[in-house]
Order: sequence, then structure tokens, then C-alpha cells
Amino acid sequence: MTQRVYIKTVGCQMNVLDSEMVIADLKRHGYTVVDSHEDADCVLYNTCSVREHAEEKVYSALGKIRESKKNQPDKLIGVMGCMAQKDQEIIFKRAPYVDLVVGPGQLHTIPDLLAKIRGGEGRQMAISLGRKDDKQAVVARSHETFDPLRDPTMRPTPFQAYLRIQIGCDKFCTYCVVPNTRGPEQGRRPEQIVSEARVLAEQGCREITLLGQTVNSYKYTADGTTTDMTALLEMLHEVEGIDRIKFVTNYPKDMTERLLVAVRDLPKVSPYLHVPAQSGSDEVLKRMKRGYTIADYMEMFERIERILPEAAVSSDFIVGFCGETDEDFEKSLALVERCRFKNSFIFQYSVRPGTKAAERLEDDVPREVKAERNHRLLEVQNRIAKEENAKMIGRDVEVLVEGPSKKAADADPDSPVVQMTGRTPCDRIVVFDGNRRQAGQLLDIHVDDVSSHTLIGRVKTVDVVSIGL
Ligand code: SAH
Ligand code: SF4
Repeated sequence: MTQRVYIKTVGCQMNVLDSEMVIADLKRHGYTVVDSHEDADCVLYNTCSVREHAEEKVYSALGKIRESKKNQPDKLIGVMGCMAQKDQEIIFKRAPYVDLVVGPGQLHTIPDLLAKIRGGEGRQMAISLGRKDDKQAVVARSHETFDPLRDPTMRPTPFQAYLRIQIGCDKFCTYCVVPNTRGPEQGRRPEQIVSEARVLAEQGCREITLLGQTVNSYKYTADGTTTDMTALLEMLHEVEGIDRIKFVTNYPKDMTERLLVAVRDLPKVSPYLHVPAQSGSDEVLKRMKRGYTIADYMEMFERIERILPEAAVSSDFIVGFCGETDEDFEKSLALVERCRFKNSFIFQYSVRPGTKAAERLEDDVPREVKAERNHRLLEVQNRIAKEENAKMIGRDVEVLVEGPSKKAADADPDSPVVQMTGRTPCDRIVVFDGNRRQAGQLLDIHVDDVSSHTLIGRVKTVDVVSIGL
């Protein structure tokens, strides 16, 4: 009988991509995908370990699914992703009804392991080696990706896709669990990336977002030749059918003049740069071991302003990191005021077992102070985002239409006019009144109004003469 699988994904874009791959693989093995865990024979959670809160939510979801397993004892439950790699057997201890634990470097084993469980071999676990378990190259090999498998139906829209160019991370920021869960930094082979981009284009994809933890540090060396991020962008720019190329997340120290010039000169590459600062204070950055000072960050920022004056820059911040004083925090506020980021993702520091900060630094900023700093930084960021968006009023922007907006979900399904949503090359969200057939098109939208997060516009009326009518 066909097995039905339900997958729940939390966390970053890497996880969204991993889920797409796992589903593609399971479909090839005869599984069908269902929309609810109640209808599934197999429920998979693709998990995140970056903050404790994300993990607690998974354990609580597992607690709930246990009830449905009582009525359907054959239902298999799997935990995949970063939490699986980090907690390993602890998951079986905390949730003994879990059948499968698979780390992000072992996702290709899932169909086999599910078959083994069904065959009566008991619960299964597949995880990659720890950073200190063996030589770097051996550890790296145990963190495999199987990216060529794609499943367009699993993507949020068929004309946008993530494309992994780098796995793992070697930066070891003291707060961060990613170098442990995703293993050593490895660039994928450029030819493989380009051929995957071609497949995506053949499937109708117009926009690709290249993924890596420090994506602009991308490097691949073979036969004495090194391909860097700039060279890779030049190769991908040649792929017919792909109209837009974005890339996240950037590491400030590797935002070179050469790369920025390529972003400027390659028309398909979006002038959208997500370059997390994490803090505005040198003392905090030093304790985070980020490897740069605010002077370094500003030098990079000014390079962006000089080469790409129209670029949208966004950031991440951690508030309440170990030892962060009011003065340190004020410096993060000042950095947001100076750089006027398009948006910032703001996180309250969460101790992660296995990191240097957990071992050596005291988590001494009270919870309420973290919450208050989070709120203040967000307020400043939102005001700035709205002011920057307001500069777009009266302008025309090119939008890749993604589909009906959330608001459209409540609208009359028979109405020909619905609110549609899409993004500009600078990654700004745009809504406008349109029709469902516009999904996947690149349209010029005239901006009439804005909020902190959205531009509100209308389709620019087509100049009848210019289309020859
Ligand atoms: N590779 C990316 C970030 C990956 S994690 C980069 O270097 O920018 C995504 C974001 O989560 C980070 O940028 C950081 O702001 C936040 N983060 C990571 N570890 C955290 C922790 N222990 N507590 C709170 N936020 C954290
Ligand atoms: Fe984590 Fe730092 Fe690597 Fe980003 S660069 S994934 S924050 S260790």
C-alpha cells in the first residue's frame, strides 16, 4: 500500500530546501504527500537548533503527536535536521515513541531507514560525525547533501527556488550551534550548481536564491583552479530562463570590491545584501568571535554605498548576549540608525549547549532586559524601514509576482480581482490588485503607499504605443 507522508518544517531556508529534497526522494520511493499529520502513515519534523525556543516547540509538537500514535500505532514518527544531529539519543529518551532520528548530513538515508523500521528492525538513527570525531576531510564527507533531487511541487512557488552552493560553517561564532550541526564548510562543485540551475530553469523557475551560511565566502578548488562567489555568479548569469539571482547569508569580511562590482554589473543579480552585523559594540563582537570590528563593518558598508548606492542591505542582531551592557546595546541602536537597514531579524540570546559561549561565558542579561532591548531595536528598525520604503512612493518597481496575498485568502474565490503579492529585486514585498494568472510574471508596479514591511501599488498601465497596438 502507498505510504503517506506529512512533513513539518521549521527554521531557516536550508531546512525548507532539505524538506523539498526529502519529499522528492520519498516520492521516488512511492510515497504520497498529505497536508495533515492525521492522514499520514509517517510524520517527519524538520527541526532547528539555533535557539532553545525552536527546540521546545518541536518537543511539544512531539508530545501532541504521541496521542495520535495511540490510535494509529503503525504511524512512524521521525525527527530530522539540526536538532537530530545535536540531540541524537536524547530525542529517543525524551520522546521514546520517536522511530527515526536523522541529521541534516544524512537525509539521503531516510527512505531506507523507514523501510527497515517497517521491516521490523526497530528504531533507526543516522547522524554525521562530530567536529572532533575524525580528520576534517572524513568529518566533511559524513555531512552529505543530495541536492540534485528536486520537487517543484514542494516549493512555495514554482518560479522561485533555493539552490545550495555551500554546506556547513567554519566560523565558529561563540553563540552558534550551526558549525556543530551542519559540519565543516564545503563549497559544492560549480558545474553541479550550474547544471542544477539549468534543471530549475527547465522546470519554469525564474528566480534562484543561492544558499550558504557565509555564502559570499564560497570557494571551490579543483586541479589548482579556485572558483569564488564572483566567478560562480558569472557562470549562473549565463543560464537561460533564470531572470533573478539572490544570495544569502553574507559574512561582512568577505564582501569584497570584486563581488560588489559583479553584483552591479550582472543585471540578473539582485542588489539585495543580507549581511548580519549581530551587534554594534566591538566588545560584544569580540566575545561573539565574529572576526570584525564596527570599523570593519562600516568600511564594508561604505563600499556597498559607493558601488551599489541603490542596494538594500539587511541585518541580523542578537540582543542580550553575555555581558551586553546598556552602552553596548545603545551602539546596536546607533548602527541601525547609521546603516538604515531594509530590515533586521532580531533575536534574544539563547544559550546553546556545545558552543564556546555556553562553556565560557555567563548568560547574565535578564530575560526581561533581553525582551525590552528586542522591542526597542525592532521599533527603531521598523521606523527606519517605513521611512526608507516611503522613498519608493511614486516610483515604478519590477515585481516577480508570487501569487495571491494572505489577505486574498479571505476574499471571494470567484472574484476576478484579488490582492496579489511579489517581490522587487531588492527583496521588498509588494501587494497590488491583480488576477491569479499574473503569478510568475515580472510586472512593473507603481508604488502608491507603504508600511514598514510592504509597498502597496498598482499595475502600471501598459503604454499602448510601445507594444505596437
Ligand atoms: N550563517 C548566518 C546565520 C545563521 S543563524 C550568519 O552568520 O549570519 C541565523 C541567525 O540566528 C544569526 O544570524 C543570529 O542572529 C541568530 N542566532 C544564532 N545563534 C543564536 C543564539 N544562540 N541565540 C540567539 N540568536 C542566535
Ligand atoms: Fe553561525 Fe557564525 Fe557560522 Fe553564521 S557564521 S552559521 S552565526 S557560526
